[in-house]
Amino acid sequence: MHLSESIETLLEAPAFQPGHVWLAGAGPGHPRHLTLEVVDALGKADVVVHDALVSDAVLSLAGKAEMVFVGKRGGRPSISQEEITGLLIDLARKGKRVLRLKGGDPFVFGRGGEEAEALARENIPFRILPGMTSALAALAAANIPATMRGMSRAITLATGHAAGSSGDLDWKALARTGEPIVVYMGVGTIGTIARLLMEGGMPAQTPVAVLMSATTPQERSLIATLATVEAEVERQNFAAPALIVIGKIVSMQAVLSGRAE
Ligand code: SAH
Repeated sequence: MHLSESIETLLEAPAFQPGHVWLAGAGPGHPRHLTLEVVDALGKADVVVHDALVSDAVLSLAGKAEMVFVGKRGGRPSISQEEITGLLIDLARKGKRVLRLKGGDPFVFGRGGEEAEALARENIPFRILPGMTSALAALAAANIPATMRGMSRAITLATGHAAGSSGDLDWKALARTGEPIVVYMGVGTIGTIARLLMEGGMPAQTPVAVLMSATTPQERSLIATLATVEAEVERQNFAAPALIVIGKIVSMQAVLSGRAE
């Protein structure tokens, strides 16, 4: 796809050169959340190396690029992280314009940092093209403000991936801040997370939203409390990809939803 000349001029993006790797965020799923520079790069890339979270609608905007899927199949990675970085380095050395496309933002739980580090080590020129992280898009779609004057002073983006295992983050300390938390990759561990937060002093009645496949045709959401969320997730068959929003800000949904378009 080609952008109009006036948009290209506005972008002032550096030229996508052969042998360079651009690590880009594709946003939460719907193509309307792509940035202009990512749309532009899709049209210019020789190869697009993408994860499972990048939607077909986004991929359909690629020009003549070869598509390489390196995501997870059936929940298991089809190719290791080392193989992915090796592939990026190989393609760049072959003189390709490589677009490494990830869901959301490449630097938010996207392993973009590790991939950039490997490219830097091998002296492969790269750029980071930010994307809209799924939390911000999902909160907007659900009419839940990420921050709210008088209600919150911070927001934590956390991964629930390793909840309850050794070396995990201190959920009880997070509970003590009284500030809202958005949990990525937490559907499987929400029971543990809720228990740790309550042990840390977060009230059992704290509202919780689970936002699944936000901005895609499979989008669903549920509202529960810290005490009931695990059972609700199970009862309503919620599965990844989903975000769990915990805190008073969730109560704003009821205030805003009837009115918003
Ligand atoms: N880099 C991505 C996050 C990758 S980790 C970003 O910035 O959004 C994968 C997790 O992201 C999923 O398990 C889920 O928690 C979340 N996620 C990604 N896309 C989502 C979507 N459309 N709706 C809900 N959650 C999503």
